[in-house]
Amino acid sequence: MPKGNSSSLLRNRVFLYGLLFVSAIVLLTIVFFRQKPLEYYDKTEYHLGTYVTIRVSSSTMSPVTLAEAAFTEIKRIDDKFGSRSNGVIAELNRTGELHDIDKETSFLIRSALEIARNTSGAFDPTLYSLTRLWGFDDESSKKRIPNDKEIEDALGSTGFSRITYDEELGYVSLVDGAMIDLGGIAKGYAVDMAIAKIKSLDPDATGFIDAGGDIGVIGPKYGNRPWIVGVRNPRGESVQDVIEYIYLYDGAVATSGDYERFFVEDSVRYHHILDPETGFPSRSGVISATVIGKSTMLADAYATAAFVIGMEPGVTFLPRFGALVLLVMEDMSIFRSPGFEVYQER
Ligand code: ADP
Ligand code: MG
Repeated sequence: MPKGNSSSLLRNRVFLYGLLFVSAIVLLTIVFFRQKPLEYYDKTEYHLGTYVTIRVSSSTMSPVTLAEAAFTEIKRIDDKFGSRSNGVIAELNRTGELHDIDKETSFLIRSALEIARNTSGAFDPTLYSLTRLWGFDDESSKKRIPNDKEIEDALGSTGFSRITYDEELGYVSLVDGAMIDLGGIAKGYAVDMAIAKIKSLDPDATGFIDAGGDIGVIGPKYGNRPWIVGVRNPRGESVQDVIEYIYLYDGAVATSGDYERFFVEDSVRYHHILDPETGFPSRSGVISATVIGKSTMLADAYATAAFVIGMEPGVTFLPRFGALVLLVMEDMSIFRSPGFEVYQER
């Protein structure tokens, strides 16, 4: 075979491969840019005594519509279960009993009682007379240290055993003037219901809802990446001051801290998470408790409980109820229940 022919064949081949290579690059570039990540829509509103942020994205619907539907749901739950609104809980506290309670009320009361039992009463949904006494029932209430007599009297009308609940009959009653405060669980429940609302409109929607540190995942970021949640430095200047990171594809995380609602008198910090045994702000040495859970409701309630229990053996039982705990102590040391670290790896 003549020499010139074989070298032109080689040239043709190089040209062909070169062309293939360039087309492949062009194709990949087009695919990459066409799969530009969905944009997220953010909206913040004030509900449940805190700022609620919804970040949502959908490929089939307007995220604005989804966020609106979610906020409507949150507002409905706030009105229904707030101790200061005109809903079922306010009515129960006023009259001492309720007949024919609806499924949702039944579910929330049953859940609160179950968590109270699981935490030996560290989480207690009957503390309304105490929270009111301290002025932690509302942003606008006057905060003050009650005297011993007031605390003693209030303790006479708190304790979850003062709730009688009959699921079959749909009946709930309170004895000894007990009053319900679902402040430690309703926010999480509202987030769960708002997520359910979004999912009913678009099952493939992604994003998250953050209600003052109670965060529920709608779906992973861009459908396949984790949301990175920062655990705030409880003594930091702002939310930007983060001490730990958590990576969440689904489920929920909630933090209870002594910096959310408090007042300082004679250099002592009095915060809104109360020890049901003493009637005083809990002094377990914990300054923030973060719980990862299957639902935002569970994470919310168990975070409140973990804050009260502190670094006691009791906290190591919480994972069996699906609650993984991270405690930040007064000296800024950190305690994790086994399994928590799984969520801290990318
Ligand atoms: P935050 O509102 O800061 O997220 P929590 O979820 O821990 O905090 O809820 C605190 C609220 O729960 C209080 O404002 C009060 O209404 C109620 N609460 C306080 N102490 C307890 C407790 N030991 N068990 C259940 N609820 C509590
Ligand atoms: Mg909570």
